[in-house]
Amino acid sequence: MTTTRTYLDHNATALLVPQAREAMLAVLDLPGNASSVHAEGRRVRAIIDAARDSVAKLVNAKPSEVVFTSGATEANVWALSGRDDVAAVCGIEHDSVLTPLRASGRPLIDVPAGREGRARLEGFSQAARTGQIILQWANNETGVVQPVGEAARFANENGWAFHVDAAQAAGRVKVDFQSLGATTMSLSAHKLGGPKGAGALIIRDGANLKPLIAGGGQERRRRGGTENIAGIAGFGAAAKVAAERLSAWSGIEALRNDLEREVVRRTPAAMIVGVGSDRLPNTSCIALPGYAAETLVIKFDLAGIAISAGSACSSGKVGASHVLLAMGLSPDLARSAIRISLGLETTRDDISRFLEVWSAITTTISAEQKVA
Ligand code: PMP
Repeated sequence: MTTTRTYLDHNATALLVPQAREAMLAVLDLPGNASSVHAEGRRVRAIIDAARDSVAKLVNAKPSEVVFTSGATEANVWALSGRDDVAAVCGIEHDSVLTPLRASGRPLIDVPAGREGRARLEGFSQAARTGQIILQWANNETGVVQPVGEAARFANENGWAFHVDAAQAAGRVKVDFQSLGATTMSLSAHKLGGPKGAGALIIRDGANLKPLIAGGGQERRRRGGTENIAGIAGFGAAAKVAAERLSAWSGIEALRNDLEREVVRRTPAAMIVGVGSDRLPNTSCIALPGYAAETLVIKFDLAGIAISAGSACSSGKVGASHVLLAMGLSPDLARSAIRISLGLETTRDDISRFLEVWSAITTTISAEQKVA
């Protein structure tokens, strides 16, 4: 990336930390297969085990509970698979949860969300049957932290399974799998400074989950396929760095808060989505009534700033963010929302540049470019 661009889309994917890059480069030329008993194989196995330890430590899980996957999408699909019981799920979840659930034919309980961005868990507590609760730790579009402790308590007291998608939370806020008491938890390497295409499903010891990818004996027979050793090594290195830097996010939160204060001061019509809620320190979702988010994103891009409209995964499709709609925002307001997501590399200069462009865009945008 050239230094003239300002990258404010870390929830789509964070920058690769140098330690992850080095770890990946170091393993690319290793010949061994971790399933082989010879020295080359054992060397690769040791790299995987070290990465497993680092990932486990980041989220306070046991190493034996960590199964490497191709990312949080696979981990989510896996955690939801092989069941035909009731699934309680909120409309603010990521597509990698909602799409497989809707295709599964399982009975679904629609957990509502409030305008503040939080899932309202009372929706399913009267259900006659037990099943699985699915709740993300933090939302990718609004950054709003979800009541995962409450969900876990309910699940454990009433015999439900609980899957938590921690793709956006891990490495940004404290994530403690053991204390939470979830059944399964998804992680994604590229949201926390690791490579794209790597992640993990944390499976509580003793939980019964059939492999999604049955094949060879890899990952203790839980996920077949020769391991993505570079991805895993990069994930492990990034997890280690992320654990060391957790406290640094408070500085980024201060930058995010300054950005929001200044946006609202300059443009009083702007609305910060989820502002009163506990949020990730790096995320800002701003709705600007009357504007089309797609237009704003393009204008920011032309001015050298990368942000997104809704989630990156859905930004190819024109339409309102399903997350904001599920929170009860009007379609027009939901279509006007942009997401700015900071990383630990973000500087005060980046924020100043954003604000400069914000002012230029919002004062010059023509009436035709506004949403009718
Ligand atoms: N869950 C959430 C909350 C996410 O934000 C994402 C990534 N946008 C995913 C799951 C999917 O992660 P991955 O890219 O690793 O498949």
